[in-house]
Amino acid sequence: MTIRKLPESVINRIAAGEMVERPASAIKELVENSIDAGATRIDVVVRDGGRRLISVTDDGEGMSRDELELAVERHATSKLADDDLSMIDTLGFRGEALASIGSVSRLAISSRARGSDQAWAISVDGGTKKDITPAALSAGTRIEVRDIFYATPARLKFMKSPRTEMSHINDAIKRLALVNPKTGFSLSDGEREVIGLTPVHGDLHGSYLERIGAIMGRNFADNALAIDAQRDGIRLTGYVGLPTLSRGNAAMQFLFVNGRPVRDRLLYGALRGAYQDFLASDRYPLAVLFLEITPREVDVNVHPAKTEVRFRDQGIVRGTIVGAVRHALAEAGHRASTTVSTAALGAAQPSSRPYSTPGKGTVWGGAAEKAANNFHSPLPDLDAPPAAPSPGTDMAEIPGDYPLGVARAQLHETYIVAETEDGIVIVDQHAAHERLVHERIKDAINRGGVSRQGLLLPEVVELDEDAVNRLNERAGELKELGLTLEQFGHGAVLVREQPAILGETDIPGLVRDIADDLEEMDQALALKDRLSEVAALMACHSSVRAGRRLKPDEMNALLREMEETPHSGQCSHGRPTYVELKLADIEKLFGRR
Ligand code: ADP
Ligand code: MG
Repeated sequence: MTIRKLPESVINRIAAGEMVERPASAIKELVENSIDAGATRIDVVVRDGGRRLISVTDDGEGMSRDELELAVERHATSKLADDDLSMIDTLGFRGEALASIGSVSRLAISSRARGSDQAWAISVDGGTKKDITPAALSAGTRIEVRDIFYATPARLKFMKSPRTEMSHINDAIKRLALVNPKTGFSLSDGEREVIGLTPVHGDLHGSYLERIGAIMGRNFADNALAIDAQRDGIRLTGYVGLPTLSRGNAAMQFLFVNGRPVRDRLLYGALRGAYQDFLASDRYPLAVLFLEITPREVDVNVHPAKTEVRFRDQGIVRGTIVGAVRHALAEAGHRASTTVSTAALGAAQPSSRPYSTPGKGTVWGGAAEKAANNFHSPLPDLDAPPAAPSPGTDMAEIPGDYPLGVARAQLHETYIVAETEDGIVIVDQHAAHERLVHERIKDAINRGGVSRQGLLLPEVVELDEDAVNRLNERAGELKELGLTLEQFGHGAVLVREQPAILGETDIPGLVRDIADDLEEMDQALALKDRLSEVAALMACHSSVRAGRRLKPDEMNALLREMEETPHSGQCSHGRPTYVELKLADIEKLFGRR
């Protein structure tokens, strides 16, 4: 056996394996260097998905001859002046990106230090450093990477189509652009400009907004809620989308820690947790969130790619995110996204005439309507005969007083049509009712218990023996949630009481679903910790399904309740409970505008 020290070029290739996974990761490193160099313009050109050429040009502070010569060496950096890894305030610090990239490609750098009258160029070819030469460049730095991975054929094989690589590149630049609004960015594939972002001037807050709007699009701008929270030395700012604006993957979730784009499981998990009640598990909310925390509280030196972080106190970070996002969602009250009405209108269009997104007004300032956390009045009992008209639900009333309008009709025993000041609202009565019941149950449990209602005739629900045992073990907890049941022989349970809130309930359906749920769930978890899931199950089996005729009073009571209830704009699965069509848009349908 012979142990030997590996040559520098091999060491660099090994390091590159972790850091430079694909062209997009090289571009991320190069653009981060430009940002660290104080660039106000960064232009990226890519050919063949980055395989043939990557070029990054900036107008940053540049490098002198000596600096340039050092920059391509491994572990050479200008960013750790006092060797303190706990106070990193630059994107780079490991001093290995240029060395790694140079070891797997043909790298050429020209640069001119600010204030210098001469530019210099150096190149590295598959790890072999070439002589430094004078170059022509008026300012900043230009880096060209050709034939990436030519020196590591194994990695080359994993390159995807130019289109796929381009979309990763696009994503990497977008992430950095979101958090650096004062810098202009461009990305071109040699023929077409894929990204074109001019530097945004003005105050910091306003510039972030403008950049987010430019990258995330108008639709997000119209349907996002502002986040600004501070807690235990952590500041969280940014925007999150309404639940009805969700996606099938996390591609539109942009998370940053101290200005660094990260893909951190803790942060993704916290975001997921915040939306848990409002989105099906396979839907992802849109978000741009900036977390600022004292550098000492976070370790960014976890992986060469620097997209993972470790927080000293994970609980506080998670709590801050969940708390702030939930708060914003609660404030949004019954709002559902304008996308919903856009989609509805699109479907209703008689021709393919283009139309503009119905404006609900920008909500950048924060939650537009405030939902009172008011749960004191009883939920409209939609199975009881109509009571005497309650105040505030008179048919003659002016719709302008209510965001969701005054109910005018029920169609197909499923949809409530309401007139608002400047449009109409169509409510899916079942989805809306389900959501209201869900929130009611959660609230009641948080307040200390759900009131129970005895059944006139106890209901026997037949189940297999395992299911009976599972329910029996949890009988105490279920009782607190309003459901009183006991074992009834080996293959059945007897249900004596149900949550009063539910009204007429499909008890066998509910009990079976809970039994199924118990089988899947972590035995260590108390039912209360799975509250929203249990509440959703109960709500789902409660009475007002589609297909029940409602009196005007009942309809209006439902609308008023929705206005007051947080999260009532979408059902537990993230589907909207109502759509709103503005008169202006209806007029367009008829060609009146
Ligand atoms: P790190 O960014 O971790 O310091 P890199 O290998 O990415 O390591 O870069 C090495 C050094 O080269 C940097 O510390 C910086 O001094 C210099 N450098 C790299 N890119 C640029 C650039 N675009 N403009 C000015 N200096 C740069
Ligand atoms: Mg770097």
